[in-house]
Amino acid sequence: DLNSAAAPLPSVSTSNIERRWSDITSYAPKKKVQSWFQLSNGNWELGKIISSSGTESVISFPEGKVLKVNSDSLIPANPDILDGVDDLMQLSYLNEPSVLYNLQYRYNQDMIYTKAGPVLVAVNPFKEVPLYGNDYIQAYKNKSIESPHVYAIADTAIREMSRDEVNQSIIISGESGAGKTETAKIAMQYLAALGGGSGIEYEILKTNPILEAFGNAKTLRNDNSSRFGKLIEIHFSETGKISGAKIQTLLCEQSRVVQCAEGERSYHIFYQLCAGAPSALKEKLNLKDVGEYNYLKQGNCYSISGVDDSEQFRIVKEALDVVHVSKEDQESVFAMLAAVLWLGNVSFTILDNENHVEAVADESLINVAKLIGCDIADLNLALSTRKMRVGNDNIVQKLTLSQAIVTRDALAKSIYACLFEWLVDQINKSLAVGKRRTGRSISILDIYGFESFDRNSFEQFCINYANERLQQHFNRHLFKLEQEEYIQDGIDWAKVDFDDNQDCLNLFEKKPLGLLSLLDEESTFPNGTDSSFANKLKQHLKSNPCFRGEREKAFTVSHFAGEVTYDTTGFLEKNRDLLHLDSIQLLSSCLCHLPRIFASNMLNQSEKPVVGPLHKAGGADSQKLSVATKFKGQLFQLMQRLESTTPHFIRCIKPNNLQSPGSYEQGLVLQQLRCCGVLEVVRISRSGFPTRMSHQKFARRYGFLLLENVASQDPLSVSVAILHQFNILPEMYQVGYTKLFFRTGQIGALEDTRNRT
Ligand code: ATP
Ligand code: MG
Repeated sequence: DLNSAAAPLPSVSTSNIERRWSDITSYAPKKKVQSWFQLSNGNWELGKIISSSGTESVISFPEGKVLKVNSDSLIPANPDILDGVDDLMQLSYLNEPSVLYNLQYRYNQDMIYTKAGPVLVAVNPFKEVPLYGNDYIQAYKNKSIESPHVYAIADTAIREMSRDEVNQSIIISGESGAGKTETAKIAMQYLAALGGGSGIEYEILKTNPILEAFGNAKTLRNDNSSRFGKLIEIHFSETGKISGAKIQTLLCEQSRVVQCAEGERSYHIFYQLCAGAPSALKEKLNLKDVGEYNYLKQGNCYSISGVDDSEQFRIVKEALDVVHVSKEDQESVFAMLAAVLWLGNVSFTILDNENHVEAVADESLINVAKLIGCDIADLNLALSTRKMRVGNDNIVQKLTLSQAIVTRDALAKSIYACLFEWLVDQINKSLAVGKRRTGRSISILDIYGFESFDRNSFEQFCINYANERLQQHFNRHLFKLEQEEYIQDGIDWAKVDFDDNQDCLNLFEKKPLGLLSLLDEESTFPNGTDSSFANKLKQHLKSNPCFRGEREKAFTVSHFAGEVTYDTTGFLEKNRDLLHLDSIQLLSSCLCHLPRIFASNMLNQSEKPVVGPLHKAGGADSQKLSVATKFKGQLFQLMQRLESTTPHFIRCIKPNNLQSPGSYEQGLVLQQLRCCGVLEVVRISRSGFPTRMSHQKFARRYGFLLLENVASQDPLSVSVAILHQFNILPEMYQVGYTKLFFRTGQIGALEDTRNRT
């Protein structure tokens, strides 16, 4: 149980923090102080306060514009010396516009990385930036560069792994297109460079093109969007060399195989295969042009600008060689892909006035049968009938057109999902750590970020649930880290409350009346429908503060990152994973080995051991794990592995929706900062003592302002004398063993005096 694994934390609302926040933001600005003013378009502009009287201030902007505004609407800006600081914690004023400005200031100079206390923020440059490669890797290794970087995070992880003998994790999150996958690769590059030598690091890097080909697709938001979550655990030997790796994946978006939206593509590998297969292979698989396949036609999008699918195919094949997938197996993989494509072209003829069908025995059906190695007649039966057990009799029920289409698509999705899992298994075998396991590892997590679209379905439901779990992990660790630093430096610090998302997790996980349980329950009812599911939710969860029933078949969940309204259409079908036993039976009887492996894997995933399912018709469907339950299981496994590691967090930010360099949309960035909890970290810090300065640095910087000589010249005495002279209130700072800790804004006031002097 994950809940009991983590330390219990107070779950108190942020209202206290909010109040403190507003106390500080509504202060009356001093003269000539810089301030933020929000323009009508929502952007913040920096101005100088020329005068302020009572509740009104006059503020001048760079292009000579002068405005008279309400003083309350002004938010203090930081002194110029803090422009572009590489850690947001160094800002005296930690308000939203200051954070936005600081990130933008750095972004404009290609400094895409910034620390937010313990978190690394990475703003996607959407262009090549000169920050990577061997020289940089060496510089971070030798510590001759200190600026924030993924390399620095990876370096810390390696050091802490050896120093503390604790496994480490690098947890990367952010919206679709924010740069998680690229960031994960950059981190892997560093680990491979430092831990390389055995050659296995080369194999590890080659898993990327394979998994991206099979698990990524072009979406409207990202030309290379990962549709699965991935945790790669990289193992190290005692001497610090990489000894192997293990990959765990989380829900491949299956629906994309059979349907995708206008302007989007299915998984890259389909296009790569069609474009890049040598003519002998093309002939063998009877491959046609991408435009000939129904599954690929729907998106009406066949290529990606700047990407050569046939060249990519070559890269994937080479990578498969490197991870020891034999040429024979590779050919079987391609045959499965072709089978999926041909399945999409299988059509049906209506036989009677009850809409019963059989498959048309055309080229498509023949090709599928040939590719998976089964009888055409058996394939036809599996697609157009269903065996049922009624009492003691086996009966065969003919399927209607819509049932047959669902069955066909379910088979295509299952073949693809099994193929993906099988490939991951092969890769894991090749990368296996073996007997010389030291138990030292660094894991890198790259999962799909929180999603909120105009229309949200089952996929978003699962993705956002996963993100909710991850957010809890994030909160708990950062909160703990913060506390530890205070305790280490010996300062008195009463616990700070923070907003826990346990309520929302309970909404999902509670048994029997949580979203997941109710979904599973409704999915097992033969008469359950999406609307009966929606009604059940409304009936049982209406008093839950994180839940709201909506009109029609919809419901809204208050996630940590915002409210999302889910449309339950298709929920039950997607959750049931309707692969009939007939289809599994068909696969298990195939001549080709992959379909047989798939069939046996599917049966092994059943919750209870299914006794003799291949001989008994019916009944087994309900014993298969639902998709949501399987997902939850995988997620828990993944979180459990993360729990025992020291986490390092990277938050990727997408500065614009156009995937284009140089454009920084404040509103979009702000929404992500809020959403992914960076501002929350900042808020937690604000309610503590976010500004830290060593005694030495403080004494050096402000010592000259002292009016009287201090008896002792040691930095601590000088520092204390400065604090007294400037009447800094005792509740505004804490003196630690090595550092001074200040509440927000305190250093800003000292800086102002220093600059005026
Ligand atoms: P999804 O959730 O959809 O998988 P993601 O967060 O993994 O999205 P990426 O695929 O990593 O996003 O990044 C999207 C694109 O942004 C990349 O294809 C690349 O063009 C660009 N990009 C991201 N990070 C960098 C970087 N550090 N340098 C240059 N370009 C980058
Ligand atoms: Mg990705």
